Amino acid sequence: MILREEGRIQILPPHLVNQIAAGEVIERPASVVKELLENAIDAGATEIRIELEEGGKRLIRVTDDGMGIAPSELPLAVASHATSKLRSEADLHRIHTLGFRGEALASIASVSELDLLSRQAGQEAGERILARDGTVSEGLPESIAPGTRITVRNLFYNVPARRRFLRGERSELARIHSMVKEHAIAMPTVGFTVSHGGKISLRYPAGQPHRTRIAEVLGRELAERLISLPPSDRLLGWIAPPDVHRRTAEGLHVFLNGRPIRDRVVFHAVREGFRGHQIPGHHPVAVIFLDLPPESIDVNVHPTKEEVRFEDSSVVHTLVRRAVREALASAASVPPLDAVIRAPNVEPRAVAEPMADRVSESFGFGTATLDLPRPLASPSTPVVRSTLIDDREVRAFQVRSAFIVVEEEDGLVLIDQHALHEKILYEEILASRDQGIAAQVLLVPEPVELDPAEWQEFVEAREALRELGFEVDEFGDSVALVRSVPAGFESRSVDRLLRDVLARLAEGRRGGSDDLPDLRERLLQTLACKRAVKAGQPLSAEAISDLVRGRARAFQPRNCPHGRPAELRIGWEELNRRFDRK
Ligand code: ADP
Ligand code: MG
Repeated sequence: MILREEGRIQILPPHLVNQIAAGEVIERPASVVKELLENAIDAGATEIRIELEEGGKRLIRVTDDGMGIAPSELPLAVASHATSKLRSEADLHRIHTLGFRGEALASIASVSELDLLSRQAGQEAGERILARDGTVSEGLPESIAPGTRITVRNLFYNVPARRRFLRGERSELARIHSMVKEHAIAMPTVGFTVSHGGKISLRYPAGQPHRTRIAEVLGRELAERLISLPPSDRLLGWIAPPDVHRRTAEGLHVFLNGRPIRDRVVFHAVREGFRGHQIPGHHPVAVIFLDLPPESIDVNVHPTKEEVRFEDSSVVHTLVRRAVREALASAASVPPLDAVIRAPNVEPRAVAEPMADRVSESFGFGTATLDLPRPLASPSTPVVRSTLIDDREVRAFQVRSAFIVVEEEDGLVLIDQHALHEKILYEEILASRDQGIAAQVLLVPEPVELDPAEWQEFVEAREALRELGFEVDEFGDSVALVRSVPAGFESRSVDRLLRDVLARLAEGRRGGSDDLPDLRERLLQTLACKRAVKAGQPLSAEAISDLVRGRARAFQPRNCPHGRPAELRIGWEELNRRFDRK
């Protein structure tokens, strides 16, 4: 449509307004499917059928068994700004339906040929209208089971630029599938069937329990490994262990009050939760359902309603991050040695045997005091040590006093001894502490004089400090008397340590976030790092063997607590290929 009298301001004709609005929401067939699915779910459907042709470009038909639309309201359903889901401004601030904008059907009708057939429970037959080129036909009776059937043909037939922008049939179908999968996870009680060109391509039966539906959508193998997040009244969810990862955020399935969302705050919180457990650049897999009071969120941020705004995003961030961290920490708690490793050729040690030797010769995993190994081997003569892990013989030796080479069934593994030991210790510390960090009581309590800002922070953060392992009293004005420090930090300058921690706490407070879990995490990492064997340290055969066995028991030995890789692997096939052997 050309507006001839250039320069004059005119109100746009409604059909054009709708086309412009459609530009924001309806980008491709999957966007149509999303809107139609949302409508069906809002209508209380328990079975939703989606029929497609040519990746939805030629035809999309969604049939539901929901409450239907009254014949007199059919034309309204395809009119813009017409909705049954909002009545007043107050409703806008406590949205409990997926739709509320009253624009989707009007937008879709402006860029396609839309055919709407619906029947309410009391009616004898359904009624059908056709919308095309901004006009709506008279209603005609047609038989249909109670519910609604919406058919969208030739999407973007009148918007060639958009049509050209669409991908091939398979790619559009894939997008529709992932859209349906998100809703299928969100609504496990609703049945979904997708057929393409007459063949069923996805099918989820109605009335499934959450876990079953997730298993159907994400795959059984992955679902079996999912770790539950500690449930609360605001959050329910599962994460995959850290060795399962994706290249993008595609593995993050987040739902807010039943609505699939792609939200940066929540995504970031999940990744933060995985920090130290997963290699940076890897993306975790998680399914998270958030249940927040509708008045504390704003879903009217973007027309697609996938972005949301939280009244207090730091609360949501903390909620999610903590849940993920707790789940990882509990999954990381290492089972006792004997349960995992059977070493049939080793005689059980006599109880009376002095422990000291053993501990100093090896790492003595599982014991609280970890002495560094006595170097038994010179760096130039690698010790080949074989260790039995799960009845398999594993051979290992040290090179350059820094790396351990392990021969495994499927290839060679090169291990950074410091990074691996650090990770094993980190997991042990995580598992052993109940709450907070263990405290080490100082022989002589140490007074630390604080400046006014530090003193202020100290007075406010007493509880937090205790959780971190500091037992501190007030000792006159602006002097803190330190009675204990986090275990592992006793050799540090108490003065510097306390000031440093106070500074970080203050920083976190200024940033508006409750940074204690992060700080605790960083202290644990520092602790593990300090205690771990260094690069450049020759290791005894016992120590190598201990490390290799510790690796087998570790929850996630592939990276250090800071996320850097702790090992590299070369498969035998790869090795053969490199040597031009077939
Ligand atoms: P919204 O969902 O934001 O209200 P839509 O344009 O998607 O706007 O739909 C307009 C109205 O049409 C809805 O408010 C609802 O009353 C009705 N409607 C649409 N689809 C269905 C359906 N599948 N079943 C029952 N009613 C529907
Ligand atoms: Mg809608």
